Amino acid sequence: MTSVAGSRGIPTTMRASVLRGVADVELEERPVPAPGSGEVLVRVTAVGVCGSDVHYYEHGRLGQFVVESPLVLGHEAGGRVEAVGAGVRSLVPGQRVSLEPGVPCRTCLQCLAGRYNLCPDIAFFATPPYDGAFTEFVVLPEAFVFAVPDSVSDDAAALLEPLSVGVWACRRGGVAPGCRVLVTGAGPIGLICAQAARAYGASQVWISDVNPRRLALAAQLGAVPLDVTHRSVREWGVEADVLLECSGNSRATTEAIRTLARAGRVVLIGMGADEVPMPLPYIQGRELWLTGAFRYANTWPTAIDLVASGRVDLDALVTGHFGLADTEKALTAAKRDAGTVKVIVQPQR
Ligand code: NAD
Ligand code: ZN
Repeated sequence: MTSVAGSRGIPTTMRASVLRGVADVELEERPVPAPGSGEVLVRVTAVGVCGSDVHYYEHGRLGQFVVESPLVLGHEAGGRVEAVGAGVRSLVPGQRVSLEPGVPCRTCLQCLAGRYNLCPDIAFFATPPYDGAFTEFVVLPEAFVFAVPDSVSDDAAALLEPLSVGVWACRRGGVAPGCRVLVTGAGPIGLICAQAARAYGASQVWISDVNPRRLALAAQLGAVPLDVTHRSVREWGVEADVLLECSGNSRATTEAIRTLARAGRVVLIGMGADEVPMPLPYIQGRELWLTGAFRYANTWPTAIDLVASGRVDLDALVTGHFGLADTEKALTAAKRDAGTVKVIVQPQR
């Protein structure tokens, strides 16, 4: 290990916002990690709050993952390279970067097949027992730290993570020029999927929700908003080639599947009910394809390009900024204000 902490102006300790139990987040002073060989020390400048962070904060668990010891949340992060370990060639201190927060084992069958998002041994930020990025510094292997151009803001560098979910969903769904795409749910993931689908060439992108403010934002970003409070997507007359399901709502999922054209493709991104009723005769008679989507693999270069070229706007999703001491306020922002879309924690504040 190269010992860099304490040298060249890098402090020896840092503040970290730590989840100690349900609805209990406190600042702790922790040692600044030192980058080992092939690793990069990043000064974190922006971290998006994700629904999963809020879920861990409110319930202390998410699916099979249970917070059993203090956990640093936050996995949508960008920052600046502070120091590099031995052998790091692609990055130098001072560079602005975006972080891919899951480090797979790189030797199992799934990793070798290129599907490293399915690696059973992936170490993913803010997923117990691995700490995340609501802290001043983090260390990652060089391959998971991506330089971003100055046209990508600090917030957008952080939000390349959820954009990666959208890029992966479009790839899984085979979104291509001419496709008609229905996105269900206009949360951050749905708004990003809708933009990604347009960037992938979709000729028509509808997005459904029951939240009028989110639908208004969706319209601003170029999608056709469908308010499904009193009228279902089918009643809106939608016929889609691809469904990107981003609501996690079971009724929305079943109804949306019934709008697909023959040989249409369903990508299930939203996580909600464990079991969802499936209209089998519809799926069989139209030979629909149905798949899940779990995180992403090899998406950062594409995501960076989509933002740098102006085809995807991530800054438009940001509705608030909080300092590290106010992480708890960031985690509860959506509960307090229905206008919240994506809030950002700035660990240097
Ligand atoms: P979110 O909760 O902010 O957004 C969900 C949206 O769905 C909300 O705006 C809500 O109003 C809307 N909705 C509720 N009922 C609806 C209905 N009947 N029809 C249409 N819309 C409806 O969440 P998010 O951060 O945007 O994430 C979306 C989903 O994606 C979540 O379930 C999340 O867990 C999941 N997710 C999956 C992955 C993955 O890798 N598969 C990654 C990130 C997030
Ligand atoms: Zn693996």
